[in-house]
Amino acid sequence: MDQPKQEDDYGYGLFPERNQAKHKKGSITERIFTFNHKCRFMLQYAVDASPYAKLLLSAMKNSGCQVFKDRHFACEDCDGTVSGGFDATSSQIVLCQNNIHKQSHMNRVVTHELIHAFDHCRAHVDWFNNYRHLACSEIRAANLSGDCAFSTEVARFHFGLKKHHQECVRGRALRSILAVRKISKEEAEKIVDEVFDSCFNDHAPFGRIPHSTKDAKFAYRHYESRDRYNANI
Ligand SMILES: [Zn+2]
Repeated sequence: MDQPKQEDDYGYGLFPERNQAKHKKGSITERIFTFNHKCRFMLQYAVDASPYAKLLLSAMKNSGCQVFKDRHFACEDCDGTVSGGFDATSSQIVLCQNNIHKQSHMNRVVTHELIHAFDHCRAHVDWFNNYRHLACSEIRAANLSGDCAFSTEVARFHFGLKKHHQECVRGRALRSILAVRKISKEEAEKIVDEVFDSCFNDHAPFGRIPHSTKDAKFAYRHYESRDRYNANI
C-alpha cells in the first residue's frame, strides 16, 4: 500500500524548475529577476526576524543540520498555487517566487518547510515510500507553522472554536499529501487518521503549539535560555 505507483512524479511536476538544466531566456528573464530578488529579500527577512524560523534554524543547528541560506533555499517559479516544497533528495527548500507576495505568507511558508527539514534531519524520514512519515510531517507542519493560526483562519472567513484548529490541520495535511502523491482521498484520509494523534501532539522543537507570533517568540526565548542552561552543566 505504501509503494508509490509507477507514474508518481512525487510532486516534481509542481516545481518545473527542479531538475532543469538552465532557465529560459528572453522576455520573461526580467520578470523572473524581479520576483527572484523580492523572494530572496523576503526570505532573508523571515530568517532574521521570524521567531518560528529562528527557533527551527537554531534547533537544526543543535542537531547537527545547519541550514545555509544559499545552499538550502531556492526561489523558483512553481505551477498552480503551490507556495513551497521540501526537496528531500537535495535537502532544499523551494520557495515559489511567483506565488508568494507578502512577507507574512513568506514567513509561514519558510516555517512550514523548515518543519519538514527539521523532521528530515532528526528522523530519517522515508518521504517516498512511507506515506505515514509524509503524513506525520504534514500534520506537524500544518499544526506548528501558523498555517492554521487563528488570524489566518479568520482571514479565510472560517470563524471557529478550539476543535476547528485540529480540523484545519487535518484538512491541510490531506491536501498537501494529495498534491504530491497519486493516492485516493480515502487512502490519504485513512493514513492521516492513523497517525494524527501522535503527530499532532508532537510539538518539537516548539514545546507547545505556537498559536501566534507572540507564542513563537516566547517559545524561541525559552528554547534559547534552555540552551544556555544546558551549556552550564
Ligand atoms: Zn508540507
